[in-house]
Amino acid sequence: MKLIFHITLIFLVIFTVQCGRETTTDKLNVVVSIVPLQEFVENVGGEKVSVTVMVPPGASPHAYEPNPAQLMKVSKAHMYVKVGTPIEFEIAWLGKILSMNSTMHVCDASIGIDLIAVSQDDEHEQSNVDPHIWLSPQNTRIMVNNIYDALIAINGDNEQYYRTQRDAYCAELDSLHRRVEQMLQKKKKRQFMVYHASWRYFARDYGLEQISIETDGKEPTARNMEYVILKALEHNIRIIFVSPQFSTKSADVIAREIGGTVTSIDPLAKDYVKNLGEVVRVLSAAME
Ligand SMILES: [Zn+2]
Repeated sequence: MKLIFHITLIFLVIFTVQCGRETTTDKLNVVVSIVPLQEFVENVGGEKVSVTVMVPPGASPHAYEPNPAQLMKVSKAHMYVKVGTPIEFEIAWLGKILSMNSTMHVCDASIGIDLIAVSQDDEHEQSNVDPHIWLSPQNTRIMVNNIYDALIAINGDNEQYYRTQRDAYCAELDSLHRRVEQMLQKKKKRQFMVYHASWRYFARDYGLEQISIETDGKEPTARNMEYVILKALEHNIRIIFVSPQFSTKSADVIAREIGGTVTSIDPLAKDYVKNLGEVVRVLSAAME
């Protein structure tokens, strides 16, 4: 009797494991750090991938801590895509994430990107590299190619499919880049003001200057408040851009001081091409 029970149990375990395999071999399980990476992986991977994002919409990659359900996803993943820059979420959690799954392929999306060094007291005090690489369409093109390379490294059978998908998405990114260039190149005003300094790569690509309110990634000091108010008056800036992940208190104060307004733009939106198109539209209007 006992033996039969044991045999039944063993069959049950084998059956469960087999079923589990069947559902997971269907698609590649890919885990990514931030929402824009999810968008890039889904565009290249199409129907072949199932993507889980660690820092959910509305959360800040400078502070987020994953929950146990997310870490479970990591243990079943075939691939992890990291931003690859010193963004706080990855500094704090990547070691733990990678230790949970030793067979998972790791894709560093930042390979080949010309990183921008920032001074220690500038923004993200933990590092001297600006982490926000994804906000330049040309950087994104490189990131998309890194994701493509990683996908064919673990799933070469679908190379042709991934290439077609990648080429279509890169064509969209190229057209976005040309559109942004056209909209911004004739502006006399080259400065724009943001609360959180996430647009440095974008500013570099299009010859603009980002003026940020934050000091060391925190609420600004009185000195920096004074400095940005003077800058705003000097360049006749009337609009301050904030993002949904950050408080707008000091931005509101500065807006009152300069007789301007506060507008929200999202550095972490899901539909990347559509969102950047919208950002450039409001930016372009603010730079008249
Ligand atoms: Zn940021």
